[in-house]
Amino acid sequence: MTADRAHAYEEAVRARVAAARLWAAHRAPYLASAVFALNPVILEPALDEDTGAPVADPGFRAFPADTRWNLYVEPGTALATPVEEIGWWMLHQVGHLVRGHAARSPVRPEPGHEVSHAAGAARDEEAHRWNQAADAEINDDLEAEELRGPAGVLSPAELGLPAHRTAEEYVPMLDVLASAMGRGGRALAEAIDCGSAVDGQERTYEDGGPGEGLTRLDRDLLERSIAAGIQDRVSARGELPSGWRRWAEERLRPSVNWRARLGAVIRSGLSTVAGQVDFSYRRPSRRAGAYAGIVPPSMVRAVPDTVLVIDTSGSVTNDVLNRLLAEVTGIIDGVAGPGRRLRAFCCDVHPHPVQLVRRASDIELVGGGGTDLRAGIAAAMALRPRPDLVVVLTDGETPWPEQRPPAQVVVCLIGDGGHAPGWASVARIPSKGES
Ligand SMILES: [Zn+2]
Repeated sequence: MTADRAHAYEEAVRARVAAARLWAAHRAPYLASAVFALNPVILEPALDEDTGAPVADPGFRAFPADTRWNLYVEPGTALATPVEEIGWWMLHQVGHLVRGHAARSPVRPEPGHEVSHAAGAARDEEAHRWNQAADAEINDDLEAEELRGPAGVLSPAELGLPAHRTAEEYVPMLDVLASAMGRGGRALAEAIDCGSAVDGQERTYEDGGPGEGLTRLDRDLLERSIAAGIQDRVSARGELPSGWRRWAEERLRPSVNWRARLGAVIRSGLSTVAGQVDFSYRRPSRRAGAYAGIVPPSMVRAVPDTVLVIDTSGSVTNDVLNRLLAEVTGIIDGVAGPGRRLRAFCCDVHPHPVQLVRRASDIELVGGGGTDLRAGIAAAMALRPRPDLVVVLTDGETPWPEQRPPAQVVVCLIGDGGHAPGWASVARIPSKGES
């Protein structure tokens, strides 16, 4: 291909992307600033050997994004896709980005090179399901705006799934549905990869990329301005998809809504774990054998096992911790059933011995001095049976593990300072008074 010809293709691709942006901003004006914040990265085209023209690669049909708001445009795909459809995918990818699907993803980074073929396949399956569930959460709101997706794209309404649920809630529903449809020889929807924006796992085509895109601060400011724009529109006319309204409310009023937010993140952590449905035989317990002669192979839901890690360094007061512990254990009881025993660690620079308790008030708060929650989280992960969900109560003035531990982690971040790692779900809790 001559340089001239390559240039002509790139011009044509850029023109289509620009037209798609205008279409998307026009169809969903409340997301216009988000659509214009997307940074299109044009990939190398795959060329037809005979004609030299770019060939569409179906792996890129979703115009995948990464968490820095780069939108990867494969030239053959862009030239073969109608402008409206590219615009639809832009709105869809904005949905993954602002709803933090990458941070919420249950998919873990590949653990070095020891991963077996079977484990790799299971991980791919999990990643694929999470992508579909996240798509269901977004497409729901797009459909509410008469923005129907392209053929083959997952539609909650068409699948008969309940509306306005979160990705975490859609995962177990899709598992059951996919299994039922699989027995009939049908697939749920086409396998579509929306990129690392949906699960935080870097893709090969991001390698050596321009490293451009938005910083964390840029993203934070952008999300606030999108949320503020949505709130303005709601107060002016009130016609917006409910998912976007809820998102904007949460984004702008985290402290007022902290109880709802805390409940939502803990429940979603528990339901993600509970959603890991096991269709195999489970070894019947002795007790089950007493009144059940036959144990059919059935869908068994794992009961999520939760461990609390409590920052008892000098900077967090016991008053605040006691209030928060009551809230947290109340929420866990509500989901997992009351009276279940919980394991809890107090942690300052070292984890103190594990406590097995029934109620928040049974936890003895011991500790003081500095904080290193890495040790507390490591101790929680070393427990057997290993916990499915770790709930951390802290002011965030601590170093964190660099890698996501092999469990769901919810951080209850007390006060206005401190920070939580990108791989955890976070609820910010005011340090004083009731609100
Ligand atoms: Zn998607």
